[in-house]
Amino acid sequence: MSDKSSTTTLWGRIPLWQKILAGLALGILAGALMGEDASVFKPIGDIFISAIKMLIVPLVFSTLVVGITAMRDPQKMGRIGARTIVLYLITTAFAISIGLLASWIFQPGVGLDMSFESGMEAKEAPSLVEILVGLVPQNPIDALASGNILQIIVFAIGLGISLTLIGEKGEPVVRIFESFAEAMYKLTSIVMAFAPFGVFGLIAHVAGSYGLEVLLPLAKVIGVAYLASILHVLVVYTGLLALIGKLNPLRYLQGILDALVVAYSSASSSGTLPVSIRCAQKNLGVSEGVAGFVLPVGATINMDGTAIYQGVVAVFIAQLLGVDLSLMDYGMIIVTGTLASIGTAGVPGAGLVMLSIVMAQIGLPLEAIAVIAGIDRILDMARTSVNVAGDLMVTTLVGKSEGELDETIYNAPGKS
Ligand code: ASP
Repeated sequence: MSDKSSTTTLWGRIPLWQKILAGLALGILAGALMGEDASVFKPIGDIFISAIKMLIVPLVFSTLVVGITAMRDPQKMGRIGARTIVLYLITTAFAISIGLLASWIFQPGVGLDMSFESGMEAKEAPSLVEILVGLVPQNPIDALASGNILQIIVFAIGLGISLTLIGEKGEPVVRIFESFAEAMYKLTSIVMAFAPFGVFGLIAHVAGSYGLEVLLPLAKVIGVAYLASILHVLVVYTGLLALIGKLNPLRYLQGILDALVVAYSSASSSGTLPVSIRCAQKNLGVSEGVAGFVLPVGATINMDGTAIYQGVVAVFIAQLLGVDLSLMDYGMIIVTGTLASIGTAGVPGAGLVMLSIVMAQIGLPLEAIAVIAGIDRILDMARTSVNVAGDLMVTTLVGKSEGELDETIYNAPGKS
């Protein structure tokens, strides 16, 4: 699917994903050449991020209401919910195991001598009861105003089901939501036209602020985290799509590119949500109902990249301090890392704070987190991309399993 307009200018004829990639490459170049001066471009990136964030609440709310009224089947909704949660949990456990394995094989912390000092407090993982109680909004307007995605989802599902149940009487409201959702898709396209510049501004700033002197000593742990992330996407995600979904994984990789680059440059999976929803519907052919439910839930609770990172960094720090981890410790990291990743908010830097849960669990000093805090953004960009790729993979699989995936769109060669 492509945004074909009547324009014949060269700019109009280049597919959006190519322009976004060019923005990324030029941003890195500008950062490398200009160093800290590249921060002059940061406001362009900030405007872009604010513009996408502006879309999140109205887009998620209207898409979900429309999607649910179109499905007309509350039972199907329950099935979709169960499949989504199971797939999210399984892929996260896989992710953290891959992270552990990568650090165990490549030993990025062995032989490294780094000092650290910082006063960090351990965070507490949220309890299951707390999460469940917090799902129901006392005031939906408050949930919308504060952008509490899980509460917005609960209200939208309730409203969508009720509109279906009252039949004809619900029609006018459904039509208003349909028209509103359509307008939000259009607005997303308009904001995305600005993405190449936004990505350029964000990346130029990041590339310009990290000199080689801070990156080089930690090059090995950065390399291991990136390698584990890439492997997870290329092996686990594409494998699941091919084996369970019987789908061509290359089309998936091609279809999620816009979302990947925005995730990479913004380091926020919540912020990337509107782009993910657009990719899911426009490039992968997932229905409104499935995309509108599975993706916002994923952006809130499914953080495979964060899980990989926790595995890699926990083992890295243990190696750095010469602490031997037992099999029991590894098991602990998998369990607490999965929970901690669920509790991680989809905003920049959240994973670093949640790392303290895993560290405390296996008795490592929290101060050691300071070693990687300085380069966390570089790791954050990779983990956010995996977080978003994972959400889109599960969305595709759930869509396929529920007959909510248009394979003509999925298999179409030209994307965005
Ligand atoms: N920045 C990540 C995200 O938005 C969360 C994290 O810091 O791990 O998905």
